[in-house]
Amino acid sequence: MISSILPTYNRAPLNFVKGEGCWLEEADGRRFLDLGSGIAVNSLGHAHPELTQVLTEQAGKLWHLSNLYQIPQQQALADKLVEETFADTVFFTNSGTEACELAVKMARKHWYDKGQEERVEIITFTGSFHGRSSAGIAAAGSEKMTKGFGPLLGGFTHLEWGDIVALREAASESTAAIMLEPIQGEGGIHVMPDADMKAIREICDDTGALLILDEVQCGVGRTGKLFAHEWSGITPDIMMVAKGIGGGFPLGAVLATEDAASGMIAGTHGSTYGGNPLGCAVGRKVLDIVAEPEFLADVNKRAGFLRQKLEGLIAAHPDVFEDVRGVGLMMGLKCKATNIDVVNAGYANELLTVPAADNAVRLLPPLNITEDEISEAVARLDKAATAVENA
Ligand SMILES: *Cc1c(COP(=O)(O)O)cnc(C)c1O
Repeated sequence: MISSILPTYNRAPLNFVKGEGCWLEEADGRRFLDLGSGIAVNSLGHAHPELTQVLTEQAGKLWHLSNLYQIPQQQALADKLVEETFADTVFFTNSGTEACELAVKMARKHWYDKGQEERVEIITFTGSFHGRSSAGIAAAGSEKMTKGFGPLLGGFTHLEWGDIVALREAASESTAAIMLEPIQGEGGIHVMPDADMKAIREICDDTGALLILDEVQCGVGRTGKLFAHEWSGITPDIMMVAKGIGGGFPLGAVLATEDAASGMIAGTHGSTYGGNPLGCAVGRKVLDIVAEPEFLADVNKRAGFLRQKLEGLIAAHPDVFEDVRGVGLMMGLKCKATNIDVVNAGYANELLTVPAADNAVRLLPPLNITEDEISEAVARLDKAATAVENA
């Protein structure tokens, strides 16, 4: 008999009842160190006092209105995002998938309104993840996500990740947009090098194609810059954001330049919950904290410390780990052993990590993790690796 919850997930037998900072308490009393952050969502850890305060204060006033009316919390968050980024305008969603939907629609509408109705092609890359909607799975294109769900939304061309030569050949004046994650998350922490980010921007400039960056996982301070593309010095035309921006409250956004967004006039898109007062009040507080230069400097310091510790870990367990990659606090351990075994051994040592494709284990700790907690986490990973070796 089917379970009362649609059985689309493989869940670990862990029941968390309470969280504080980087720690989660299991119903049986064990304390787990959380290096997954609900998959890069709890950017400031669990039960952050300032976020809890903003949320509860707002909850006492207004939860939901409708985009029929003015929403000052939404305005404040949009203003902050525009102030801190390349963007001129922002649309709020509840998730990354919805942000992907709008990014795709926006790019196509842009060309439609410029009289180039046939300019619909969007180039994406292997190993990508853009969410589980029909547009998201068609954009990513992997068999794992698309099989059985056809007919798929058309107009996507999939190229090998990082193949800039192929991209230069494929992109043309009929390309509506090029879409990628600056750092692939689900795909196994693959970083697009800065030089290639610049080359992709150039290809967009040469052909007129819009550049859509999916920063749903790598954005909001995760890499030690507010957004990951800042490391390369380029800017996108459209950017998808979600996960970390709500600090655990469901919130997403599409950021865009005025030109890219020019087709999105009143009535062309909408969302009932998108931009609700609760989510936006929390999102504004998250950004006020994370966008501070001192906060981002601390993320980079912690990231350097973590990477150094992980290099030691790999050297100590060459049969379990191959290498470490990533930027900031978005780290991936490429495994020689099976990644799921490493994640499970972590559970046995009260440590949470997240598996990814390409046999990787992701480390996505809260951005405010302390050096002591990093040391403790790596000590637990060391025990987990020893257990995998001895299995
Ligand atoms: C998680 C993720 C999404 C989908 O976001 P949801 O909030 O799960 O809909 C899209 N793109 C990337 C890069 C992601 O990591």
